[in-house]
Amino acid sequence: KTSLRDHGSEDKVMVSVRIRPTDSTSAWIPNAHEAGIKLDPTFVGRTTAPSSSSFNFDAVLTGTPNKPIYTTVGRSHVHAAMEGYNAVIFAYGQTASGKTFTLSGDEDEPGIIPRSMKDVFGFIKRTPTREYLLRCSYLEIYNENIHDLLAPPSIAAANPVQIQGGNGNDLILTPLREEVVTSLKGVKEVLKRGESNRRTACTDWNDRSSRSHSVFRLVIESRERGSGSSDDDDDRPVTPMMNGRHTPGLGGRHTPGLSGRQTPGLGGPKLQARGGRSVQTSVLSLIDLAGSERATSDKERTKEGKYINTSLLTLGTVIATLADNSAKKKAYADCYSDAPDHVPFRNSKLTRLLQPSLSGNARISVICTINPDPSAIGESTSTLLFAKRIK
Ligand code: ADP
Ligand code: MG
Repeated sequence: KTSLRDHGSEDKVMVSVRIRPTDSTSAWIPNAHEAGIKLDPTFVGRTTAPSSSSFNFDAVLTGTPNKPIYTTVGRSHVHAAMEGYNAVIFAYGQTASGKTFTLSGDEDEPGIIPRSMKDVFGFIKRTPTREYLLRCSYLEIYNENIHDLLAPPSIAAANPVQIQGGNGNDLILTPLREEVVTSLKGVKEVLKRGESNRRTACTDWNDRSSRSHSVFRLVIESRERGSGSSDDDDDRPVTPMMNGRHTPGLGGRHTPGLSGRQTPGLGGPKLQARGGRSVQTSVLSLIDLAGSERATSDKERTKEGKYINTSLLTLGTVIATLADNSAKKKAYADCYSDAPDHVPFRNSKLTRLLQPSLSGNARISVICTINPDPSAIGESTSTLLFAKRIK
């Protein structure tokens, strides 16, 4: 038996566990013994030394409504991104444990992605003193190949996205489309297009979606509203980026794909001066990870399984290292770009492309999803061990 305890945390890495309802009861039964996992509500808000079979997390969440999920483990990260910090939200867990339900949700229960986009436009509306430029991209990593989900499938298949760039945080993804979005409706259209491209590109959707990571990212640039007299208003982009060319940002310069130049450093949000008004840039990444279950024996799957294992293991190591260092010696984290060997970003495409977003002063939220079905206890246990390792 394993018990889960819930406690608040201000740490850089927030780790939560979400237990979905079972198919048979459509409700989470507290202390459901068959599941082998026990919720311990008496520990909410308290921290105690965990015994060998109990784990503490920032939040332990149950039930179907997605709103409280967003409020607890998503909103503050989205707001941090609006304020200039890089933020990453992951869903980790075995297939059918609720990752996609948590991130995308459905018509009745929109998930973290649609809720955060709504929040972003609400934030902009409430902040009339600043002007914003939003660009989004959507990609999938399958078998260590990166596919641009916003490009037509035939083009995307023939042009896998390459990670270019030298050391540390300075990297460019090409060819990767970035679409300028100006409304919630606009983002929803982009998301829909990405999802439909993803479905078209593969023969077995369920299989593919459980074996690939999907990454939705929003580049947020803002600056204080000026008098409107400066010349740099002329180069405000109005057209989406095409064919791997990047849209110039508010700073008047081309934003590298997942550039670390925009990564806020330890000193806070990164600012670029242009026309007397500084531009603040950050990236919000929302990631539906590949299923964490052990691969089956089929040959092709073994290869896929290896890639998945490597990337999830590396992700765990990277986050664990960052969490550890941020708690103890914050200043050291800033050195990672100069000493990438300390954190094994290069061991997988996923961590490599997220390096700029995970380094420095990034805000990270990992939601580990659990299927309480008794048959899933082995995978649920390994998900909890992953969660414990990165906390
Ligand atoms: P994953 O993306 O991890 O493979 P899904 O999100 O597709 O899993 O979830 C599998 C099934 O369980 C879906 O039919 C989904 O609607 C349902 N489901 C997952 N989490 C919940 C939840 N918290 N409440 C109700 N249904 C859920
Ligand atoms: Mg899924």
